[in-house]
Amino acid sequence: MSQTVSPGKEFLDSVHYYFDQAAQHSKLHPGIISQIKICNSVYKVNFPVEVDGQIQVFEGIRAQHSQHKLPTKGGIRYSMHVDEDEVVALATLMTFKCAVVDVPFGGAKGGVKINPRTSSVETLERVTRRFASELIKKNLIGPAVDVPAPDYGTSGREMAWIADTYHAFKFGETNALGCVTGKPVGQGGIRGRNEATGLGIFFGLREALHDSAVLQPLNLSSGVAGKRIIIQGIGNVGYHAGKFLQQDGAIIIGVAEREGGIFNPDGLDIDSIFHYRKDNATFQGYPGGTFINNSVEMLEYDCDVLLPAALENQIHIGNAERVKAKIIAEGANGPITQEAERILHAKGVVILPDLYLNAGGVTVSYFEWLKNLSNVRFGRMGKRAEEASLKRLVNTIEQTTGKSLSAEEKTLIIHGADEKDLV
Ligand code: GLU
Repeated sequence: MSQTVSPGKEFLDSVHYYFDQAAQHSKLHPGIISQIKICNSVYKVNFPVEVDGQIQVFEGIRAQHSQHKLPTKGGIRYSMHVDEDEVVALATLMTFKCAVVDVPFGGAKGGVKINPRTSSVETLERVTRRFASELIKKNLIGPAVDVPAPDYGTSGREMAWIADTYHAFKFGETNALGCVTGKPVGQGGIRGRNEATGLGIFFGLREALHDSAVLQPLNLSSGVAGKRIIIQGIGNVGYHAGKFLQQDGAIIIGVAEREGGIFNPDGLDIDSIFHYRKDNATFQGYPGGTFINNSVEMLEYDCDVLLPAALENQIHIGNAERVKAKIIAEGANGPITQEAERILHAKGVVILPDLYLNAGGVTVSYFEWLKNLSNVRFGRMGKRAEEASLKRLVNTIEQTTGKSLSAEEKTLIIHGADEKDLV
């Protein structure tokens, strides 16, 4: 009889497998290694919220994987797939992601089991504020303790509700705004945070597409221009990554979403499909491409780069063999299972890992948090102080990649931020 493993458990097993592989290269004492691997604490709470006149019980989880540095940091996701193993796996990745980009936070992650697409704004606000209250009650959130951010299914709007709830409970606390990042710019956020993850993916991928050690075995020409890209997920991460790639000459040939995908070998315009889907809740009927019912199959389409930017475990033992992409850029956290990774490596596919590739978000969260801690009225800080933060982002990218950015790239980061709020 075949045993069914929950997707969360499969994800956590993959994360632990990668950890064990890396740990073999460490000279640390095995006891220390075990402590680094294990999740420090998990808080699970069930809370009631009134929905359409009825009481509904919601489950919320917050995992703090490592408190070796405080605060701990990581998003809160809203999805029906949320479970403890998934949240622990994501919190674990946050610890290592922060270390890779030298952001002085421990790793954390949270989730609420709720479908954000079928819930009303009122319900989402009540659930968010109640979950925040539960975390505040237990001292599990705060600028010096644990600082959430947006993740799959959440955005600046939810972060603003969390900040407001925190403020109400902790009236007068210094630095209270630093209890959460990814806030809208007008409510304590920072310019550039919204597109930071997508921009980081663009830079990471572009770096790989100029690296002859990557390109030669794949028989690929150098540069982003002309590369055929398929993106899974057109949320904040997928949209912004796609936008920067398209601006640099990439051809976005397909975008897959949960209800179906859109495909055009001559290229799609990312802005126009994004807005079409926002208005119609589907790609169906979009005039510039073919609607694909079974969007999961699009992961197997021929392309130069596949960019999964949605959820974990998307490329697995069941489809890895059929994947035709030459490069897989991990925009999402953990989109490839460990078995799939073995298959892909054997096929010669180059995988750009999530820990490095999607770390732009938490990097700019760090600057937002620093800005909040400085506790200076934003008007007075002005644009210059924010530009200083973005200059630090340039510095982080240079340190992480070991390469200097050109003047034009620096300008794109410091002045080219798209302030459009996607919410
Ligand atoms: N949810 C994002 C991630 O997975 C951002 C985390 C943050 O900014 O704290 O990296």
